[in-house]
Amino acid sequence: MAPSVELRVYAELNDFVPVAARSRSQLRPIRPHQTVKDIIEAAGIPHTEVDLMLVNGESVDFGHHPRPGDRLAAYPVFETLDIGLLTRVRPRPLRDPRFIVDVNLGGLARLMRLMGLDARCPWDADDTALAEAAAAEGRIILTRDRGLLKRRNVTHGVLVRSNRSFEQIVEVIRRLDLADRLMPFSRCLRCGGVIVDVAKQDVIDRLEPLTRDYYDTFRQCRDCGRIYWAGSHQRRLNDLVDRIRVAIGTGGDAVP
Ligand SMILES: [Zn+2]
Repeated sequence: MAPSVELRVYAELNDFVPVAARSRSQLRPIRPHQTVKDIIEAAGIPHTEVDLMLVNGESVDFGHHPRPGDRLAAYPVFETLDIGLLTRVRPRPLRDPRFIVDVNLGGLARLMRLMGLDARCPWDADDTALAEAAAAEGRIILTRDRGLLKRRNVTHGVLVRSNRSFEQIVEVIRRLDLADRLMPFSRCLRCGGVIVDVAKQDVIDRLEPLTRDYYDTFRQCRDCGRIYWAGSHQRRLNDLVDRIRVAIGTGGDAVP
């Protein structure tokens, strides 16, 4: 019989394996020189989805070489699990999470900015450029493309499962435990830059006549210069923020 290891995956990682292998051990073939990372990816699980690997009950990193007969257990990123004494496979968690969003998820990127999260979404980046930018800037990749997350230089990434942007923002906030980090209306919806107060006289040349007459309080994006004021769209955005807060379970005034 070919050499094999036992692999068991937990919680959301079961989404990646065949139904018959869910929540139970499966035998996976192992060749000499294969690492833990090779084995979980051969099983269809992007390594970026895995936060903790145990081999025979001991935590190991991705480069560990298991032996035939070993028992492997894979736990998902951000699974709520007491792993205080164990080593996570990441060098360290990203403390102040910043994101780079696959161009196919532009709607999600805008909602993340609305909620005050730092989300870049380069419209012209291919997979290679996206992975390189994420590594260089220490950003977490959000994508629906499993192949992108399998790239070697990708260390932090999340496969977004929902296909509508409202469900996606709720999914991302919940899975990455971001509810305490939300600061709605603190970032530019167009580019994700921080928006700051600006004096009316500093932007008055750029205002439409009606806006100039009816509004006195303005804010401006530090990066792209876009001007914001509490215009007619504000109520709709307030409602959207409330609906997101209700959906993630942190209150809000709106009825879901
Ligand atoms: Zn901007």
